[in-house]
Amino acid sequence: MPMFQRPTAIRRKTLRMILAASKDAYPNEFGAILRAEAGVITELLLIPGTVGGKRHAIFQLWNMPPDFSVVGTVHSHPSGVFHPSDEDLHLFSRFGGVHIITGRPYDEATWAAWDNAGRPVALEVVP
Ligand SMILES: [Zn+2]
Repeated sequence: MPMFQRPTAIRRKTLRMILAASKDAYPNEFGAILRAEAGVITELLLIPGTVGGKRHAIFQLWNMPPDFSVVGTVHSHPSGVFHPSDEDLHLFSRFGGVHIITGRPYDEATWAAWDNAGRPVALEVVP
């Protein structure tokens, strides 16, 4: 059985997709599941119903049978603060992986990744 591998990088294309989706969803939140290959986040799984503040659905999806390409979540904060809220920390603590939060205005300087304890995770942006 494959082991969970914490991602260490994200493709620039994927990051740009996340930032564009965050902008599109504004003033609502955007949410998606992150998939990775060999430690690099490469893909978003968009889940209907996560836009419009119903982002808890992203965590429900994660309750499905183990898929070790699923490495975490992403959601946007229209407030611009890209630190986890108390509610985020509670949800992160119930799941492993890495959790990206984007903050308005959703550019390459207004996002961060966090672990399940709310500690910052360094993700290298790679071509
Ligand atoms: Zn949040």
